Amino acid sequence: MGVRSMLACAAADVAHWGLSSVLRRGGGNIPGVIALKLDPGIIADLAAGLDGSIVVTGTNGKTTTNGLIADGLAAAGFDVVCNRAGNNMQTGIAAAMVAGRRGGATSGKKASRGRFGAFECDELYTVRVLPQLKPRALVLLNLFRDQLDRYGEIDHTQEVIAEALRRSPQTTLIYNADDPLCAAVAARVDNPSLGFGIDEPTGLEADRVSDSRFCAMCNAPLDYEYVHYGQLGKYRCPKCGWSRPELTYAARDVELRCGNQGGYSWDVCGPDGFRRRVKTRYNGLYMVFNVTAVAAALEFAGAGTDALDEVISRYEPAGGRMKTWHALGRDVVSNLAKNPAGFDRMISEVRAAGGRLMAFFLNDNDADGHDISWIWDVDFEKLCELDLQRVFVGGTRRNDLQVRLKYAGINAQLIDGIEDAVRGCFGADASLPLHSVANYTVFPQVTADLKRLDGTERPEGTRAAIAPKARVNLGCYADASIRAEQLGRPLRIVHLYPDALNLYGDGGNIASLRQRCEWRGIPVHVDRVLMGEALDLSDADVVLLGGGADRDQLAVCKELLAQKEKLTAYVESDGALLAICGGYQLLGRFYMMGDERVEGLAVIGAETRSGDGRMIHNVAIDSPVASSPIVGFENHGGRTYLDDGEKPLGTPLVAGTGNNEFDVGEGVLHKGVVGTYFHGPILPKNPQVADWLIAHALRRRGIETELPALDDSYEDAAHDVALAIVKRG
Ligand code: GLN
Repeated sequence: MGVRSMLACAAADVAHWGLSSVLRRGGGNIPGVIALKLDPGIIADLAAGLDGSIVVTGTNGKTTTNGLIADGLAAAGFDVVCNRAGNNMQTGIAAAMVAGRRGGATSGKKASRGRFGAFECDELYTVRVLPQLKPRALVLLNLFRDQLDRYGEIDHTQEVIAEALRRSPQTTLIYNADDPLCAAVAARVDNPSLGFGIDEPTGLEADRVSDSRFCAMCNAPLDYEYVHYGQLGKYRCPKCGWSRPELTYAARDVELRCGNQGGYSWDVCGPDGFRRRVKTRYNGLYMVFNVTAVAAALEFAGAGTDALDEVISRYEPAGGRMKTWHALGRDVVSNLAKNPAGFDRMISEVRAAGGRLMAFFLNDNDADGHDISWIWDVDFEKLCELDLQRVFVGGTRRNDLQVRLKYAGINAQLIDGIEDAVRGCFGADASLPLHSVANYTVFPQVTADLKRLDGTERPEGTRAAIAPKARVNLGCYADASIRAEQLGRPLRIVHLYPDALNLYGDGGNIASLRQRCEWRGIPVHVDRVLMGEALDLSDADVVLLGGGADRDQLAVCKELLAQKEKLTAYVESDGALLAICGGYQLLGRFYMMGDERVEGLAVIGAETRSGDGRMIHNVAIDSPVASSPIVGFENHGGRTYLDDGEKPLGTPLVAGTGNNEFDVGEGVLHKGVVGTYFHGPILPKNPQVADWLIAHALRRRGIETELPALDDSYEDAAHDVALAIVKRG
């Protein structure tokens, strides 16, 4: 080790000592920040002192998988250096390495098989960590939409990981071959790679939204023999033949809920006849993927899997995840989920447990992502089959959750913290557990409260706070004034290509239109038109085109151009059309993605070119369509320029947001067309825009009427929170 790295380590040691002994804090990233400042090459320097290392990355499951790999290595006799607490950026890894060097030197324990690193790494930091660390293996668990306001689009994350691997060519990629997005990374690089996955259908329900089911080679829609969840499953491209790569490590004979406590068991099958039955006491298919990845990594590292069962049964998830507490006389289960895939997994667990009492928490701090539109991609509707008794929502964006749940038919009560929820449940059967799911920065608050309350009984004589029944009456409002006979046939809403354009909560716009019609007694019918299906817009009343990543847009472009006449005729005949982000761009003449030209429908006078970086903001506009500003979130690389004569949908409250950095306009308002960069999704939080579209559609059918008012108190509250965020800046 050079003088520079010795100095860096010494300074980091002092910082660590100061933080832990004087300030009584763990230190977290700070020693790493200091070490990297003094020696930017510290990771490479300290890597020389390791006999090898494994890095774990991917959207969900990093902490658990890495913790299990570390335990497996330790059980096999390695001295392990690990960033267990989940500080997974470059600084967290540097801090763990500095501490690991110190721990090993002072523990006096003689490691029998050498010193090994096990590090979880944030996806975007792989490109900084891998070239220095040069790990033996990178485990890539999955890639789901997550904090897109930080990551951009998933394509970008894939490219960052691929670049990290190119800069560490000896690293073997151990990847989830069931995830086409991970397999696409493997296909892009020359590194040695081996795939893992589940080699049979598991018969569980697929999720509503998937993060791309397009071929990584030719962009045609993939065919699936079976889907586990999201985009994970056994896929094949009907056009070019690209298919799920061979599984070097495969989960087979998966048995769901095998013990009386639940839990899954399966065989991990590997090369040279390797076959080992493993069992977890945790439910969830994601555990099958995670543990299969652990087995693959341990076998690959030469640590073997003899101790795996013991390691799994001893494993305590970090920081209170999947933990049951006993607070004020009730069992409370605490879980963490940060994105739609994670939330959907938690919801399927709550359903399997027959949950009746629930609390959801949503924060929008930096580490959570400022854009919370993704809650509309979570399948809360699946909770409706349960006999729900109480549902609570907390966190900085609890109002948004309240609106989201309202459209799933669930009336949730606002709370300040988990204790309110526990108290709100006093009236319910004491044997029923309360299930809580919280995202990143609010989760520690939930567990801190539960830790404080753990072991307490309900104080005698305390009564339940008044909690409304969890169900919302989704029937008609009494003063519904538009009669079915006036309309002749139901309003027909057409959702175009939800299988391809669904980047952020577009389903929320459909839910809003449908519910606002139903609440008013307006008969309504929603048609989903998928890629490759015949399109008939002759009796359409409202058409919705959602947002999409560049790659998805490319896939949709041809499909849409083949329908060009139909859409043009629809728009010309004054049809109502809501086009979001990617869908909005496709209405113009073209979208230049760098050098690649994506033809548009040319139904509006506009063109889109790529710009410098992405425009990512909470946004609000003044618009003639609504009496209060329309609020939402923008995240786009394309910059749209309207022709003279085209009117924008509105004027941004904050300069530099909207269609591009230069014009003072956002979106387009062209006949019945509302084009916009707002997801949010725009309609639930801006009910006036939804009503504008409904009224426009009715007028086109010859019904000129004032739409009856609805109770929008939840929607208005969420709107006001979003507007305050924009105004605060
Ligand atoms: N892919 C497009 C862009 O980045 C649209 C993104 C979106 O739909 N939000 O500009």
